[in-house]
Amino acid sequence: MFLNRPTMREQNENLIIEYIANHKPSSRMEISDKIGLNKASVSEIVKNLLNRHFIEEIGSGESTVQGGRRPIMLQLNKKAGFVLSIDLGYNYIDILGCYLNGESWERKLYPFRDISRSSIVSDLKLIITDFMKHAPETVYGLTGITVAIHGMVFENAIYFTPYYDLQDLPIAEALSEHFDVPVFLENEANLLALADHACTDTLHNIISVSVHSGVGAGIILDDQLYRGEKGLSGEIGHMVVVPNGLSCPCGNHGCLEQYCSEKVLLDHYRHRTGNAEAIIPDICHAYHNGEQPAVQLIHEMIQYMAIAMNNIAMLYNPETIFINSEVSRLIPSFADKIQQQLSSFIADKVKVRQSILGEKAILFGGAALATMNFLNISRMRLEP
Ligand SMILES: [Zn+2]
Repeated sequence: MFLNRPTMREQNENLIIEYIANHKPSSRMEISDKIGLNKASVSEIVKNLLNRHFIEEIGSGESTVQGGRRPIMLQLNKKAGFVLSIDLGYNYIDILGCYLNGESWERKLYPFRDISRSSIVSDLKLIITDFMKHAPETVYGLTGITVAIHGMVFENAIYFTPYYDLQDLPIAEALSEHFDVPVFLENEANLLALADHACTDTLHNIISVSVHSGVGAGIILDDQLYRGEKGLSGEIGHMVVVPNGLSCPCGNHGCLEQYCSEKVLLDHYRHRTGNAEAIIPDICHAYHNGEQPAVQLIHEMIQYMAIAMNNIAMLYNPETIFINSEVSRLIPSFADKIQQQLSSFIADKVKVRQSILGEKAILFGGAALATMNFLNISRMRLEP
């Protein structure tokens, strides 16, 4: 049975859309040269894509060195449709609407929500329906939804969530049936990695590390998200960094998460200063002022992060490790200080950088996932 195998023409069409999505603007000649398809075939497929409004013509480019007519340039039609990206936090719901080029048209945060197993599906239906009232006019309308889950996800199913009880709840099926579009559930750290990846066209192997209440990582190898056998790749919070160290709910001892999550940093700072109301910006402010114990606690956090980043560098040989956390956003030298401690001749080639997108990264990763699915491509450059 070969009924579902894409035809050669469909494969060529996908190659052309992917090229146009990543190279703006592009000409028919350039596409033909770069993907190795003859000009007549490119012209025919481009004509078809124009008729279906996936791409658009945007005037003339530079004429070729041989002179002659200036080529008509092409780009993705951002208004062919739109996607929704939802971050299902432990006590909030954040929703972003994006055109097909990643440009956002609206974002709305619902803070202090009770994320409950019994009501989350109906809550999401109401929130999405309300949000869609402001949706722009597009050719195909809503084309996909991604929901970021702060927990473990495999094959579009939730199978462990430490902060809310959503295990095995068929959220994707319920929303997909209601809105009649594909719905993707994905781990938030994986979405961070997709977002960091979509902001560059030169990096092919990256690790995006998120340090929040826990510590996790999304892994992109050869431009593909690497999920592992059961979707458990990147659980670096449970990498052992201290032999026989502090016990961890995972059943092990000395896990990274017990030493350098933002929760641990806050707990230690509040305990040592007696300020039970302290929040992360207070610690970073005290750090900038050279005050103890903030300086010592941040220094220790950097030490443990450096051990973990060294281990990651040895395992995956990434070009760049991106750090996503409130601490690293508020202390711009945080990533550099980790980098300085990667001193081995293997690890010192790896760059450690603050994530480009900041606090919007999870949502942009979700938008990238839904958009790439709609266009049936595996890489795209977003324009957040
Ligand atoms: Zn652990």
